[in-house]
Amino acid sequence: MTKRVVTLAHYYTQPEIQQMADKVGDSLELSLYAREAEADIIVFAGVRFMAETAKILNPQAEVILPDAGSTCSLVTQTDVAALKAWREEHADYVHVSYINSSAEHKALSDWIVTSRNVDDIIAHLYEQGKKVIFSPDRNMGAYLNYQYGYDMPLWSAVCEVHDKFNEAALNEALSAVTGKAHLIAHPESPLPVLKRADYVGSTSGMLNWVKQFKGSPEEVIFVATEDGILYNMSQARPDLDLRQAPIYAGCQCNSCPYMKMNTIEAVKRAQQGGGTHIDYLSTEQMDAARVPIERMLEFSQRYYA
Ligand code: SF4
Repeated sequence: MTKRVVTLAHYYTQPEIQQMADKVGDSLELSLYAREAEADIIVFAGVRFMAETAKILNPQAEVILPDAGSTCSLVTQTDVAALKAWREEHADYVHVSYINSSAEHKALSDWIVTSRNVDDIIAHLYEQGKKVIFSPDRNMGAYLNYQYGYDMPLWSAVCEVHDKFNEAALNEALSAVTGKAHLIAHPESPLPVLKRADYVGSTSGMLNWVKQFKGSPEEVIFVATEDGILYNMSQARPDLDLRQAPIYAGCQCNSCPYMKMNTIEAVKRAQQGGGTHIDYLSTEQMDAARVPIERMLEFSQRYYA
């Protein structure tokens, strides 16, 4: 019998990969889609933690990552044994983890969040009088502490792509624009950059901001996130002057090397059953990691319905 294959692609993959996908989205959208997908095989053109999340939410499906090297610096910079010790040091805190984390990391968490729902989930916890620790993204945590006056202890890992956005380079680029300029930024960027932004939000949030932009087409919009989303933004609003926010001079490193490992050949091979099968997670690991993810999905469906 022919197997039903569903291909998912993150916004940070190249346009030709997005064109091969059944669904393109950010982490939250793809997690929800993976959970409901009626598929024998889910090909996840993204990075490993996303494919693991799909497997945890849809354990019956075979989940395939096109390239074994598609990791994420937020995962590789987090030693799980050290995280466990940190979590134990803060035993009376609620541990909130960004979805960009390994399955083992998720299993040590009380809540998983995405960049779309992190503000609301943490506000909800503070309203209940909880104390919160946040991992693994130090920049995102620092922004939340700054923006809302929280004092969350933070784990210290960064996205190697977003962390390279640079305030000095940004100031230079903004001052070189003669007319009006805007900055929209992903919360994985450094705090000095986020403080300058007109809008801080998830990849989907930034895309919506651009879609709904009502200013004049002469105004310049700098975008501080991975460069893949510029494709979707330009498709949605070809009339706008959209520019990648600058990073350190001479470096073109605002493109995620792990996302770009999803080549056409690798995705086609995965659609035929080749590639890295996410078959190494035990039932216990998946069950433990599913609890905080489901908590987030249930909150999101209730809160954003
Ligand atoms: S862009 Fe950053 S956070 Fe996203 S997968 Fe790449 S390294 Fe990880």
